[in-house]
Amino acid sequence: MACCIFCRLIADPEFKALYRDDDVVAFADLNPQAPVHFLVVPRNHVETIAELDDEYLLGRILAAAHTGARDPGISEGGERLVCNQGPHAGPTSHHVHLHARAGRQRA
Ligand code: AMP
Ligand code: ZN
Repeated sequence: MACCIFCRLIADPEFKALYRDDDVVAFADLNPQAPVHFLVVPRNHVETIAELDDEYLLGRILAAAHTGARDPGISEGGERLVCNQGPHAGPTSHHVHLHARAGRQRA
């Protein structure tokens, strides 16, 4: 979807993924809120989890976030996984994304 920042980002030849497979892509958050902060998105543009309507893909997103947050040295601290969607959550990107943050105690 041409007007979506994440669709444009992951289609950019210069784009550096932390992880990618046929279903999902993970990349570092531009404005990290923790020592480790990355986003996991489905490769195809979908706006909400309800619209995703695919439990397998939902599982892939969650698994990629959890696996990616298991960096040596920080995994014992766990990770915080957050999905902002819909008007009450006020997401800035309307492409489903899961934030994974790790590496420090939540404030
Ligand atoms: P939110 O929609 O509030 O759940 O968060 C969207 C996240 O996308 C923010 O944490 C931004 O820092 C991040 N973001 C926006 N543009 C980019 C980009 N080009 N590359 C990586 N992260 C981005
Ligand atoms: Zn998109």
